[in-house]
Amino acid sequence: MSASLIEKLRAIVGATHVLTEGDLSAFEQDWRKRSRGKALAVVRPAGTQQVAEVVKACAAAGTAIVPQGGNTGLAVGSIPDESGTQVLLSLQRMNAIRGIDAANLTMTIEAGCVLQALQEAAEKAGFLFPLSLAAEGSCTIGGNLATNAGGTQVLRYGNARELCLGLEVVTPQGGIWEGTSGLRKDNTGYDLRDLVIGSEGTLGIITAATVKLYPLPAARLTAWAAVPSLEHAVTLLGLAHKHLGSELTGFEVMGRFALSLVDKHMPQLRVPFIDDAAVPYCVLLENSDSESEEHARARFEALLETAFEAGCVSDAVVAENLTQAHQLWHIRESIPLAQAEEGLNIKHDISIPVSSIPAFVAETDALLEREVPGVRLVNFGHLGDGNLHYNVQAPAGAPNGGFLRDHEARINELVYEAVHRFDGSFSAEHGVGSLKVDTLEKHKSPVALEMMRAIKRALDPQNILNPGRVIRT
Ligand SMILES: Cc1cc2nc3c(=O)[nH]c(=O)nc-3n(C[C@H](O)[C@H](O)[C@H](O)COP(=O)(O)OP(=O)(O)OC[C@H]3O[C@@H](n4cnc5c(N)ncnc54)[C@H](O)[C@@H]3O)c2cc1C
Repeated sequence: MSASLIEKLRAIVGATHVLTEGDLSAFEQDWRKRSRGKALAVVRPAGTQQVAEVVKACAAAGTAIVPQGGNTGLAVGSIPDESGTQVLLSLQRMNAIRGIDAANLTMTIEAGCVLQALQEAAEKAGFLFPLSLAAEGSCTIGGNLATNAGGTQVLRYGNARELCLGLEVVTPQGGIWEGTSGLRKDNTGYDLRDLVIGSEGTLGIITAATVKLYPLPAARLTAWAAVPSLEHAVTLLGLAHKHLGSELTGFEVMGRFALSLVDKHMPQLRVPFIDDAAVPYCVLLENSDSESEEHARARFEALLETAFEAGCVSDAVVAENLTQAHQLWHIRESIPLAQAEEGLNIKHDISIPVSSIPAFVAETDALLEREVPGVRLVNFGHLGDGNLHYNVQAPAGAPNGGFLRDHEARINELVYEAVHRFDGSFSAEHGVGSLKVDTLEKHKSPVALEMMRAIKRALDPQNILNPGRVIRT
């Protein structure tokens, strides 16, 4: 069966694009290197028609398919399982920009287009495509939409879902749904686009998308502010909304320990205020102005003046130029890497209503300290969206492997129960993948779970697309 399927796949995409031997770790290992699967074959189609034919051949053989873009996902949803029976379908060759419609403010691209290439193509045409995240050099727009990615600009422009007007999708039966018209209004029944966005490859394979473009801002300014507490960071967010309105495009919070890891492992980055032990949190703010840099600076200065007077900022620097702004963002984006240098850790990507974040952190920090004395909390994230990367690092000097083995399950339970008490979500950005299937079963309401199962069974009755991910059927 497998041999004849592989022959069929070779006939569809060409023998050189069906990989069955050699080093396939780039496709079979997850980004964090926590899991490794084994594919029956890695298949690299060149176009939508080929994707449809691959899906039909796999469906006829009863073979499961795992769609993959840049393989930067953090929920272990983009690699095959260990059985050696699943086809890994890589969209990376499908990276064409089909077109830009300047009057409609849209761009239509293939799913394997790398996010950074898409941003650059938009900028070259005089527009902004605002989706931005630290993995943008390798993640793809198909993966961004399949996971409904967030990133640093959600505050102003929304998640990937809000940036998408249409999709082209190959169904689990190999049909092609052509929905890339780029309409801003279309109330003709169920919203299939929104069903597929965020479904992590379990309901359809995204082959192309039409996304929104925006005018390029006239100026972008970045500031780094030291705040006396998380409560003050929330107050500063309120002031920033009031002073900057829709020009506030970024608001990131970073705890002292998270920044100390950057300082320790990447000393060349020069973290502002790191030598002042009295600074528990720093905030990175971004202001995108449609008038001029002068206007942006005046607005930023007025905001910071009010914030100083209100006592919610103790010190601040405003980047003088783009290079300095990039350096400040680079510090923020280096936290995950610095954390990895420090050793394995337990990651949580949670959202809580912004107003409850200080109470959540105080309560959960205390719970975890009681559970594992000396535990180190790497707390940072997109505060403007109520989204924290609330990560837990072993006490200094404790062996990493042992910490995960002995404490991961209990720490996850404590954190997710606290998230539930505060009306939050256990997965704000990264999705469910295979990592959080049990957590979903535990924390989603039974009615919601049954609706999700019904949708999966109706659209993919053979359970061909990314089985075992997101929802148990
Ligand atoms: C350093 C770093 C920083 C990150 N920061 C953020 C962040 O700020 N915000 C955020 O939201 N995420 C973040 N992520 C997570 C990750 O980058 C995003 O989830 C990204 O959207 C995944 O895109 P990808 O192309 O790599 O998808 P993959 O990892 O290849 O796949 C992710 C999921 O989507 C499915 N999939 C992929 N392509 C398709 C397709 N064409 N059709 C159907 N299903 C598909 C896969 O099966 C899998 O379930 C970060 C990751 C890293 C490594």
